[in-house]
Amino acid sequence: MASILVTGCAGFIGSHLTERLLRDGHRVVGIDNFAPFYNPDHKRRNLATSLSHPRFSLHETDLRHGLDALVDALPADPIDVVVHLAAKAGVGPSVKEPVAYLENNIIGTTHLLEWMRHRGIVKLFFASSSSVYGNTREQPFREDMNLLSACISPYAASKLSGEQLTATYHHLYGLDVLNARFFTVYGPRQRPDLAIHKFVRLLRAGKPIPVFGDGSTARDYTFVLDTVDGISRGVDYLLRHTGFYETINLGNNRPIPLLELIAAVGQAVGVEPQLAFQPMQAGDVDVTYADIRKAQELLGYSPQTSLSDGLQAFVEWLAEVPQPVSVTPYPPHSSAR
Ligand code: NAD
Repeated sequence: MASILVTGCAGFIGSHLTERLLRDGHRVVGIDNFAPFYNPDHKRRNLATSLSHPRFSLHETDLRHGLDALVDALPADPIDVVVHLAAKAGVGPSVKEPVAYLENNIIGTTHLLEWMRHRGIVKLFFASSSSVYGNTREQPFREDMNLLSACISPYAASKLSGEQLTATYHHLYGLDVLNARFFTVYGPRQRPDLAIHKFVRLLRAGKPIPVFGDGSTARDYTFVLDTVDGISRGVDYLLRHTGFYETINLGNNRPIPLLELIAAVGQAVGVEPQLAFQPMQAGDVDVTYADIRKAQELLGYSPQTSLSDGLQAFVEWLAEVPQPVSVTPYPPHSSAR
């Protein structure tokens, strides 16, 4: 049994990961600030099973509040690995609120790294994003591509900066690091700002689905339990190896064009979609397409879930959610804390 600290434990991916790590036999120390990007009640519901588990503890704290606040908020017990998922996520909102995104994702990550240094914790799994590839023409995306001028949104820039920070702490303090670039994760508990979640709700309400661009944009949709399996394998890798800095793609290796996705969502819901074509949104990339050979070789990662099975699982989950999950937009110029 190892002790794993999970930041963003109440979110979409973090809550599934917490359940998986507890099932794997680990102790989980969870951090979340229950940010109101979407209704925090849903985050509390995400944690309902884990909260009653004897090997789970929840610490409501905000990474932006700095080292002293983290020292005060977190137990002094040993931690073997940190999985850092907490972030302001999402491309579109980051274009509207760049400072809030950079402050949360870069400064918050720096405070966490300083806390790890303070506590002598040397193993980190960092959640990065496919958005760091921007509109790189060569596909599929490989981890060794030069991305210095690739980012096209503040969110992507914040994630690439996170990778730079973990490289810096690896160099300065010998931190063992696994950066994982996630590719459009979907499934039960998915954030309400993401396409599949929005589409199902629009279809159920009998409303048209907005198609940004001509419908040819494509995403490498990855089912959440496949992503979580990759993270769990990453944690095992961190526990078994020392002296490394690696970056991997956790995608599905099959980009699905937007119109094909909408048709599949329509089938899962049982409603014929009506389309409303609109201009492309600022910051959105054309295609994401993961080369997953490195994750396969390093971790044995192998995503298993078909799009139709994954969509079915999402639709069934959404039917059981008591109230609609609404997005609370950030107030303009919101304070960082
Ligand atoms: P989410 O918003 O559901 O979860 C993030 C959690 O982090 C939230 O519960 C939030 O309250 C918490 N949080 C945010 N800032 C915090 C702070 N300063 N201090 C403490 N807690 C904080 O998002 P998600 O979709 O589960 O994403 C998890 C991670 O994966 C993020 O880093 C995101 O950038 C990354 N990612 C997600 C996707 C995807 O498709 N969902 C794709 C690529 C990368």
